Amino acid sequence: MSVTESKPVPNFIRNIIQDDLKTNKNDGRVHTRFPPEPNGFLHIGHAKSICLNFGLAAEFGGTCNLRFDDTNPTKEEAAYVNSIKEDVRWLGFDWGEREFYASDYFEQLYEYAIQLIKAGKAYVDDLSAEEIRQYRGTLTEPGKESPHHNRSIEENLDLLDRMRTGEFSDGSKVLRAKIDMGSPNLNLRDPVIYRILHASHHRTGDKWCIYPMYDWAHGQSDSIEGITHSICTLEFEDHRPLYDWFLDQLGIFHPQQIEFARLNLSYTVMSKRIFNQLVKDGHVSGWDDPRMPTLAGLRRRGYTPKSIRNFCDLIGVAKRDSMVDVAMLEHSVREDLNKLAPRVMAVLRPLKLVIKNYPEGQVEKLVAINNPEDESAGTRTVPFSRVLYIEQDDFKEDPPKKFFRLAPGREVRLRYAYIIKCEEAVKDANGDVVELRCTYDPETKSGAVQSGRKVKGTIHWVSAAHAIDAEVRLYDRLFDKPKPAAEADFHECLNPNSLEQLTACKLEPSLADAQAGARYQFERLGYFCVDSKDSGQGKLVFNRTVPLRDAWAKIEKMQAQGK
Ligand code: ATP
Ligand code: MG
Repeated sequence: MSVTESKPVPNFIRNIIQDDLKTNKNDGRVHTRFPPEPNGFLHIGHAKSICLNFGLAAEFGGTCNLRFDDTNPTKEEAAYVNSIKEDVRWLGFDWGEREFYASDYFEQLYEYAIQLIKAGKAYVDDLSAEEIRQYRGTLTEPGKESPHHNRSIEENLDLLDRMRTGEFSDGSKVLRAKIDMGSPNLNLRDPVIYRILHASHHRTGDKWCIYPMYDWAHGQSDSIEGITHSICTLEFEDHRPLYDWFLDQLGIFHPQQIEFARLNLSYTVMSKRIFNQLVKDGHVSGWDDPRMPTLAGLRRRGYTPKSIRNFCDLIGVAKRDSMVDVAMLEHSVREDLNKLAPRVMAVLRPLKLVIKNYPEGQVEKLVAINNPEDESAGTRTVPFSRVLYIEQDDFKEDPPKKFFRLAPGREVRLRYAYIIKCEEAVKDANGDVVELRCTYDPETKSGAVQSGRKVKGTIHWVSAAHAIDAEVRLYDRLFDKPKPAAEADFHECLNPNSLEQLTACKLEPSLADAQAGARYQFERLGYFCVDSKDSGQGKLVFNRTVPLRDAWAKIEKMQAQGK
């Protein structure tokens, strides 16, 4: 299993569609939709649904609608609508003119409700929410009919009209479908289909004070739009008989609902409710915090749309819930960035290094390769001089075995430059090493005829006089337990070290013009991208997308070797 270019990946939904096409069901039409509720930003789980719905439509010459399921005015906002559109577009999908809203169908849904009442299949109930819950029964006990169950059609029509005109207060009445209080499926025990809510809606304003429940809106919206394959996650499997019942009672076009397993990622939560709380409580800087598994967060972190699409192909579509290792997502972005990210040198925790025998004032322009994976990326020059910065942890006063970097008396190669030898470590009053005094061997210049001398370690560096300053943010997982959603309180497993801000980093000068969103590999350190929000006006901030080490690649390799 490897991340490859997008090509159709077999799955059971694709098989169903192919069978439908063979029998010319729906006259050979394939029409899907992605139906987000605009109550938060999209996350990586939504990406799975987007890739699936838009992908199937594209593959079978069909169309895919973007439909906002905006039936709950208290939680929804126009700002979320905009973020969702931006994210779907960024992922690489186009809904053309097909941008729809469940709220566009409010009038039609109301007409359907009247139709149901007239057929004796719906009634206005005065029970409170709590009473309705009590009357509903349990999985082992049947429900009880409401005392208002047998209201006359005329009375129900009159009451619904008065609900609409605002005569009643929130929660004082609901409209319920009249199905079967004894049904083993709780969804069929006279579900509420309309509720009173005196709240402004982001699109219909104050036109309505009754709102359709999601279950009443969803299937009918699909039907109105002529959706042929209504693809949703497994938790709606038990709702399917209800949606079927509605469509059959109304006698309208009947889309086929198909359920698949939602994406669960280890060390990640996938719930807008929890994201909302994380944002509100200040655990993250916003919905687009680079630690968030939202598409906006992943984008800011440096993920490419392609890496997310590849990930969605890689995990496939199944009928059974499972947990995907977050390392697979990291693997996908690494694989993509490996091909396209220019290599540069950056020192995150600088330690000054002086080459005693290198002439003062001399600067050499050394040739460096931009991307060994892509010859067309060419080369650049990096300035080399007497005073450099290296990483603090590339020096150890008392090195353990197999430490092939710098130590007193030891040699390393400086990437693209020379072999140097550490002669002396200068310490401050606290005994901390603050400077290394070294010598270089002019005969060992990289690329020149080799001196024949070999050293085991190569380290990166930046010329002090030419370096540019930057802040670099290192991210770790937001949660430190593999299944944060399974914990009693997700706060307990928030990783206190999920963000490390390094404010004194030194970068090679070619990065002076780095543009917001640009992605690089900092040699030996990982993939980084220019933060699009906090960079600018002379400030340069980088986010680490992923470190270089690839745990998932290792697992794959071991699996391939049968270990
Ligand atoms: P959340 O639980 O995060 O609030 P939701 O399911 O309420 O998500 P919606 O806006 O209703 O969010 O979802 C829009 C579409 O995305 C739905 O069709 C839903 O099935 C799909 N979807 C949501 N979460 C996932 C997931 N983790 N994996 C796959 N598809 C998902
Ligand atoms: Mg939902």
